[in-house]
Amino acid sequence: MSIRIRGAQRPDGTTTDLYVENGVFVGEISTGSIRHEIDADGLIALPGLVDLHTHLREPGFEQSETVLTGSRAAAIGGFTAVFAMANTMPVQDTAGVVEQVQSLGDRHGYVTVRPIGAVTAGLAGEKLSEIGAMAQSRAQVRVFSDDGHCVSDALLMRRALEYVKTFGGVVAQHAQEPRLTIGAQMNEGALSSELGLAGWPAVAEESIIARDVLLAEHVGARLHVCHVSTAGSVDVIRWAKARGIKVTAEVTPHHLLLTEELARGYDSRYKVNPPLRRDEDVLALRAALADGTIDIVATDPAPHPVEAKDCAWDEAANGMVGLESALSVVHASVVQSGQLSWADVARVLSGTPAEIGLLAGYDAPFGLGSPAHFTLYDPNATRRFATSDLRGKGLNSPYLGRELPGRVIATVHHGHATVLDGELVDAAVVSTEHSAAREALNG
Ligand SMILES: [Zn+2]
Repeated sequence: MSIRIRGAQRPDGTTTDLYVENGVFVGEISTGSIRHEIDADGLIALPGLVDLHTHLREPGFEQSETVLTGSRAAAIGGFTAVFAMANTMPVQDTAGVVEQVQSLGDRHGYVTVRPIGAVTAGLAGEKLSEIGAMAQSRAQVRVFSDDGHCVSDALLMRRALEYVKTFGGVVAQHAQEPRLTIGAQMNEGALSSELGLAGWPAVAEESIIARDVLLAEHVGARLHVCHVSTAGSVDVIRWAKARGIKVTAEVTPHHLLLTEELARGYDSRYKVNPPLRRDEDVLALRAALADGTIDIVATDPAPHPVEAKDCAWDEAANGMVGLESALSVVHASVVQSGQLSWADVARVLSGTPAEIGLLAGYDAPFGLGSPAHFTLYDPNATRRFATSDLRGKGLNSPYLGRELPGRVIATVHHGHATVLDGELVDAAVVSTEHSAAREALNG
């Protein structure tokens, strides 16, 4: 299948035509064989977005999300690859389960699904999972995380870092000291006292990050910090990087835009873990993303059935969906403020997450012969975000009713379109074209 894109603006500001054939970028194609021709006047071409932190819920929680529905949410958001967190049922802690998740992603074809392996068996925090077996499996797992839970036992964390070091893997830590956050409902501070909600103190995150960067230094292994949410965490990571420790960090779109003030209405759409923080934390996170202390944006979407969120604040599940809105929220929070250029966006939402997760095919975006993963984004569009903009099963978006800039017009994964004219391409078509693209690449 061939695609011609006319007049797309690349992240560096240059305008060019793009040609795609047999899954890769080519110099030119004969007019007769063009399947899709897209006029990209006014659109920005970004390399396919890569999410290092997605919850797809399958196997086990298919009422919340499936690999298919989560992949569709990702594609409409401009993503071409997602790393699927391990907190499924059964947990992604064996070669069999990670291979199953990867195969489901391949079959549907909207995005590349790379499973993340659990650090501890059953996410129970008691003994290491079958890390080596997952690394050597067909899924070749390189990222390990107990996300949802913190690996709070220092010895287990040390052993995990030692293990992944042997094959260049990385441990992605959900930094939350569990004893300091029992029953926590929102950011700890003046507002939590005023609202009468149990607090989640910043130090519960910062103390684990401080411990883990020292462990990573001691072992000489790679550490990745999930969803950094406080100004103090930024200080610790900045210190660790200056010291030469191999640490990378992510921030979510919602922590770049929203603050704890939203808890005032007890609207559980704003309940998330780690919680929304203060204004000064948001400003510190934006500055850290701009200066490279925080390496990437990762969405951490947490789809839930309506009944899990449509209840009193203290009974509601933590989490927000965010794949469909991620690029718009990054645009609103750090591009419109002038802190990030589109080239920076390409780095923090594609190149660097691929590099951290050791995902091939993203190191030479738009290069001739490189896999054609990209998205076309209209930066001049605006929309009042609504449930009709969501494509996953979860409707728990914090942005419903909010004006957001930009819109994804097309997404191309492995040279075949998953989104055209701002709408998903039919699932059967995507699945068939993806199989053909994979065969062409392997053949
Ligand atoms: Zn987490």
